Amino acid sequence: MPIVVQKYGGSSLADAASIKRVARRITETKRAGSDVCVVVSAMGDTTDELLDLAQEVSPLPPPRELDMLMTAGERISMALVAMAISDLGFSARSFTGSQAGVITSAEHGKAKIIDVTPGRITSALDDGHIVIVAGFQGVSQDTKEITTLGRGGSDTTAVALAAALKAEVCEIYSDVDGVFTADPRIAPRASKLDRLSAEEMLELAAGGSKILHLRCVEYARRYNIPIHVRSTFTDKIGTIVVDPAEGETVEAPIIAGVAHDPGDAKVTVVGVPDRSGMAAAIFEAVARAGLNIDMIVQNVSAVETGLTDISFTLPKGDGKTALKALEEIRPTVGFHSLQFDDQIGKLSLVGAGMRTNTGVSATFFKALADAGVNVEMISTSEIRISVVTREERLAEAVRAVHSAFGLDSDSGEAVVYAGTGR
Ligand code: ASP
Ligand code: MG
Repeated sequence: MPIVVQKYGGSSLADAASIKRVARRITETKRAGSDVCVVVSAMGDTTDELLDLAQEVSPLPPPRELDMLMTAGERISMALVAMAISDLGFSARSFTGSQAGVITSAEHGKAKIIDVTPGRITSALDDGHIVIVAGFQGVSQDTKEITTLGRGGSDTTAVALAAALKAEVCEIYSDVDGVFTADPRIAPRASKLDRLSAEEMLELAAGGSKILHLRCVEYARRYNIPIHVRSTFTDKIGTIVVDPAEGETVEAPIIAGVAHDPGDAKVTVVGVPDRSGMAAAIFEAVARAGLNIDMIVQNVSAVETGLTDISFTLPKGDGKTALKALEEIRPTVGFHSLQFDDQIGKLSLVGAGMRTNTGVSATFFKALADAGVNVEMISTSEIRISVVTREERLAEAVRAVHSAFGLDSDSGEAVVYAGTGR
C-alpha cells in the first residue's frame, strides 16, 4: 500500500473539535486506500505557554529539563488524536519521537536528525494501524537523552519520516490554503501558488516565510520528497513543492513570492582599520560564539582616517552574545565602537525566473523607492534579492513589491482560518 505522511500544525489541533476534525481527515485518507503516518504539533499555543511557565519557575531552566517539558506538548496531541481516531472505528497507535526512531544529535533545543530507524512504525502500519508520531522531538544517539529540534521542527520530523518510510508524499496541513506569494496576514491580496520548486521554497523559508520550516525544505530537497502544503479547514488543492524532474520544463512565473522577516537585528562595528585580516577577526569572533549571521555590508573607508564600518545582521536574540564576543576583540582589532539596531526588517523577493529575466532589480528598487522605503543593506543570490529596511516600514514594503510584480489577486483567496499568529 502507498504510504502518506501527514503533518498537522498546532492551529489545526487547537481544541477537542479541531482534533476530531483532523481525525476525520486522517481516516478519510486511510479509507481511500493508503497507509497513514501522521506527525502532530502541540495543541494551539501550548509550546509558547510551556516556555512561559518554565520562565516563571526558573529564569534559566536547564536545557535537558526544558526539552522534557516541551516534548510533552506533542505527546498530549498524539494521544488525543489517536483517541479521536479510535472513536471513529479505526485503530491508531501513537509514538513519541524516540519510539518512532527519530535519532538526533545531542544539542538540547536545536538537535539535528541524524538517522531515522522506523521499525516500530513500519510494523504498526503493517498491522493495519494508523500511526501518530509526536513531532519536533527525538532521542540523542550519544547521550540517550530526549531532544527537541527547534521551534517549528515538526515539519522536519514529517519529512524525515516520509523519507525513511519511502512515502509518496508528505502533506503539511496548516491554517492557510497553501504557499502564498506573500504572508496573507500582512498582504491580504496575496495569491496562492499551485506549485513552486523546492529551491524557491528554500529561499522563501530562509527569507522568513513561516509556512514551512527551513530545515524541512532542505531535507525534502535532499531526499526528493514532494511536499504538499494544504489547509486542514478546506478541501482546496493546496501547493506542491518539488524541484522539477530532470528534463522536465515547467513554464514557471518569474517571481514565486515575497518573504519578510522582522526577527533580525543589525550590528555595526564602527571605525575598523581598513587592513587585511580585520573582517576575518570580526567574523571569527562571531563564529566562535556559535552565531549564524546573514547579510554583511562593509562601507568604503574614509580617505582621511583609513577607517571603515562593517555591519551584519543576525537573529535579534543573538545580539547580546555577538556584542560580548566583539567587545573581547576590540583591543586587538582596534575598532572604535559597536552599534546595535533591532528595529530592522528583511524583505526578500524570490523567483527562479530571475536567472533569465532582466529588469527584476530595477522594478524591485523602483517599487521600494515609490513607497518611500529606504534600503539599508542589500544581498542577492541567483534567484533572490534581499534588502534590510526599517521594521515599521516592512509590511508596507512587502505590499509595494508584491503589487509591482503583478502578484496581487482580486479573488480574496488569502484566508487565514485559525491560529493566533503567536
Ligand atoms: N510545537 C513546536 C513549536 O511550536 C514544534 C512545531 O509546532 O513544529 O515550535
Ligand atoms: Mg509550524
